[in-house]
Amino acid sequence: MYREDTIAAVATPAGEGGVAIVRVSGPDAERIAREIFSRSGGRNGALRSHTLHHGVVRDPKSGAILDEALLALMRKPRSYTGEDVVELHCHGGRFLVRQILELVLSRGARHAEPGEFTKRAFLNGRVDLAQAEAVLDLIRARTDQGLRLALGQVRGELSKWISELREELVGILVQVEAAIDFPEEEVELLQREELADKTEALREKISAIVASYEWGRLFREGARVCIAGRPNVGKSSLLNALVGEERVIVTPVPGTTRDVIEESVNLGGLPVVLWDTAGIRRTDDEVERIGVDFSLKRLEEADAVIVLVDGSAALSEEDFSILGAARRKKGLVVVNKNDLPIALTIAELESAGSGKELISISARERKGLEKLQLGLRSLLLGEQGEPPMVLTNIRHKASLQRAEQALSEVMDSLRQALPPELVAADLQRAREGLEEVIGVVSSEELLERIFSQFCIGK
Ligand code: GDP
Repeated sequence: MYREDTIAAVATPAGEGGVAIVRVSGPDAERIAREIFSRSGGRNGALRSHTLHHGVVRDPKSGAILDEALLALMRKPRSYTGEDVVELHCHGGRFLVRQILELVLSRGARHAEPGEFTKRAFLNGRVDLAQAEAVLDLIRARTDQGLRLALGQVRGELSKWISELREELVGILVQVEAAIDFPEEEVELLQREELADKTEALREKISAIVASYEWGRLFREGARVCIAGRPNVGKSSLLNALVGEERVIVTPVPGTTRDVIEESVNLGGLPVVLWDTAGIRRTDDEVERIGVDFSLKRLEEADAVIVLVDGSAALSEEDFSILGAARRKKGLVVVNKNDLPIALTIAELESAGSGKELISISARERKGLEKLQLGLRSLLLGEQGEPPMVLTNIRHKASLQRAEQALSEVMDSLRQALPPELVAADLQRAREGLEEVIGVVSSEELLERIFSQFCIGK
């Protein structure tokens, strides 16, 4: 376990504010509170827990009053850390708060390390690891969506879900272990099939939740969409049309947009960062070449690509090479300038587009944009709506992927009739993957890493 000393820190952000909170947790919290806090009205009976008390903070040595304050005592175990916790709500002056903290420290508390309050909450079983980490997400959330997801996890939704999966897994494990303990009753072929099916069902649930990480990331960070096309097909015009403002200089001279231009748009609640890249084409112009290399890099990094071609001209070699570069990327092929007579061969475009959906628009006349936006949104998010549980933490994702991988191996071993010992070992690994998320198994090093990301006072 841990050394049960008393820790203290300012729990509110640095700087001036109306109120600041000095938080103290540990066996001496109440004693320290009694030494430095005098209640109003001369009251000096026992302090009631889970109640706010009004009074003054006083240095017992000099007798000097530092501040008028409210004191909250939360005796264990019903407190954030699971220990006795005292919170002093004082006036939020930088110097004043520092003085009060110094006073608390001079009475025997130690300054807390980053995340130490939450770490104690975890070690005392008040929250599991996934919940503790969600506290951090909650503090850092930047959008409504992020806040909602983090709050759900602090309240234990992810943990509950993981525990259910773990139960399922243990059920399978028990059956396999029975086969090890009673070898004469070898797991029958039929039973192997049944176990493999159960394992598959479990693996699918885990992999759906692993996939939800990507979904959550798109909402948190915004999807990156690259508009690629040879010069003059109308990339800047399309960007302007989507953003709804004249942001990019549109000129009829090929190769004008040399930098990557970034614009954010809201695609039905999904934040999208659009990159208008320099026209991708072979070039001898030094400056332009830099732009071109950059475009290819952006194409790689993007979550999806819009390959734009000019419908009023025949497909050129450059168009084909861009379509080729985007072959493996998620994307749409968009035919621009449909206000002009069509000059390209659709069949040719379809085959070069390697299965990407074709959409026809006019950036200049702002036609077909809605279809393009809808197509882009469903391309990025898939057809289904919000997944039931969204994974937001990369550590959780990695652990669940390990579980997923181990379960694939379980299925292989079952189907190939490998010895039950092997199957059981893989099932154990899958179980560890699940348990790592909620912290049933955790190393000191892991805890160190997680809690050091917190700020002091949390
Ligand atoms: P970029 O080089 O790919 O960024 O292309 P621009 O957006 O600069 O456009 C190149 C030229 O095509 C400009 O003269 C635009 O006015 C013209 N253009 C762009 N979109 C359309 C369109 O939908 N219809 C027509 N007729 N012309 C367009």
